[in-house]
Amino acid sequence: MLQIEVAKIPPEGLELNEPFTASDVHGEAAEDFVLSAPGRLQCRIEVGDEQSVHVQGRLDARLGLVCGRCLEPFALGIDQAVELFYLPHRPDQEEEDEVELTERQMVVAYYRGPRIDLAEMIREQLYLVLPMKRLCRDDCRGLCPRCGANRNEKDCGCSLEDQDPRLASLGKLLGR
Ligand SMILES: [Zn+2]
Ligand SMILES: [Zn+2]
Repeated sequence: MLQIEVAKIPPEGLELNEPFTASDVHGEAAEDFVLSAPGRLQCRIEVGDEQSVHVQGRLDARLGLVCGRCLEPFALGIDQAVELFYLPHRPDQEEEDEVELTERQMVVAYYRGPRIDLAEMIREQLYLVLPMKRLCRDDCRGLCPRCGANRNEKDCGCSLEDQDPRLASLGKLLGR
């Protein structure tokens, strides 16, 4: 259960160790990544003053991505600390995205109604860690622009100075 009813969090806090699947955390149109295996959220949830909720723990997941150079699928392991403060949303209050508490930046989120939605938190965290450049490895050699071979797997031998094969057959047709 990734929907946590705030009123049901006991005073001593709640330990959560919860697997999640892609369908738990995907939004309507969020098909930017897939989970190649169920992820897991381990955290401790505590209620503080004025219905604030503190969530601290770790997020583990394996994302299935597609390399931007060779177009091969690859997996990206994620293991990261999460820490958030949830505050009850009050319509008369302005929301701040980030509030500085003590000396570090802590993420502050708002919950509406009786529940906090940890699925949404997981979704946001996964987006935050998605690399801008998705490469199966830093030195991925990509696809040959000439024959389309995956140059990580074989040396296709194409020389980039070669004439375009389509032009060569056109030349033959024209009797040159
Ligand atoms: Zn690649
Ligand atoms: Zn080639």
